[in-house]
Amino acid sequence: MTPASFDYLSPASLEEALGLLKEHGDDAKILAGGQSLIPLMKLRFTSFPYVIDVSRIKELKYIRKEGRKLTIGALTTTAELEESGEVRDEFQIIHDACSNIADPLVRNMGTVGGNLSHGDPGNDLPAVMIALKARFNLQSASGKRSVSAGDYYKDTFTTDASPEEMLVSVEIEIPDGRFGAAYVKHKRRAGDFSVAGVAVAFSLDGSGRLGSAGVGLTSLGPTPLRSAGAEKALEGSKPDGEGVKKAVEAARADSNPSSDFYGSREYKLFVLGKIMEKCVAEAAGRAQKEGSA
Ligand SMILES: Cc1cc2nc3c(=O)[nH]c(=O)nc-3n(C[C@H](O)[C@H](O)[C@H](O)COP(=O)(O)OP(=O)(O)OC[C@H]3O[C@@H](n4cnc5c(N)ncnc54)[C@H](O)[C@@H]3O)c2cc1C
Repeated sequence: MTPASFDYLSPASLEEALGLLKEHGDDAKILAGGQSLIPLMKLRFTSFPYVIDVSRIKELKYIRKEGRKLTIGALTTTAELEESGEVRDEFQIIHDACSNIADPLVRNMGTVGGNLSHGDPGNDLPAVMIALKARFNLQSASGKRSVSAGDYYKDTFTTDASPEEMLVSVEIEIPDGRFGAAYVKHKRRAGDFSVAGVAVAFSLDGSGRLGSAGVGLTSLGPTPLRSAGAEKALEGSKPDGEGVKKAVEAARADSNPSSDFYGSREYKLFVLGKIMEKCVAEAAGRAQKEGSA
């Protein structure tokens, strides 16, 4: 099928894009890499009078690292993030997710901003950003604001961004000292969306106990999820101890997956337990090596 007709707008700068979003408001939709939006439009699941293609805005295409802080421009592709040496070496959890998104064709086109803003509970980057307690920077013609990744997802395909706002960048800051993070995705075949995915990030103290923890979940509810229960269970526990079992139970309680093509609800909750144990062990291993996440 072909999409319903629309006016195609192609701003060359952020300022121009924000002006168009202000002018057309609810009638317009941002198009970035098109990997999620175009299939929906072609199937006529959705249509808009105006499509604002932001892919020419070069100022939003960057990866900047200053010490333990990483800032990613929204139009950076998931392939660019995957191929960044700094990300692979120092923010391995992001590399875990990017290298598991679909296939190279999709990763070459799909953007970080699109992956995070589509609001698809099956997209891999949101759980990672939730676990890392990332900040999402939003901008409109009237101003700027920042939202924590854990507060960005309101419903399936619905985020906290208003129709006039655009996600412009993502900021991640990891604490000094022994910090570890990992993302484990269980999928049926190469290139698939996940059956379930778990992202975990935490600091380790001198006695090998977990400090502040972040836990994000993929494909386990109507939105990308934060499991505050699992975070609480992990904090103060040993990475190979009873706390992990309690974290699995808490994450199951915070989840609400539906049975579908990828597996039954029961199977997804079973998988959650297995991959959370693996994910905590992987993150703990990384935390032993200071300066890497
Ligand atoms: C075959 C296939 C398999 C896939 N498998 C996976 C997978 O395993 N894991 C995974 O994570 N993803 C997967 N995806 C999705 C893919 O990663 C998309 O690239 C991503 O979800 C959307 O990024 P995009 O830049 O293409 O966004 P678009 O499709 O252009 O836009 C998606 C949505 O985000 C909004 N948007 C885009 N940019 C912004 C912004 N800066 N600010 C505010 N709103 C914005 C758009 O308005 C739209 O609503 C798959 C896609 C395909 C086609």
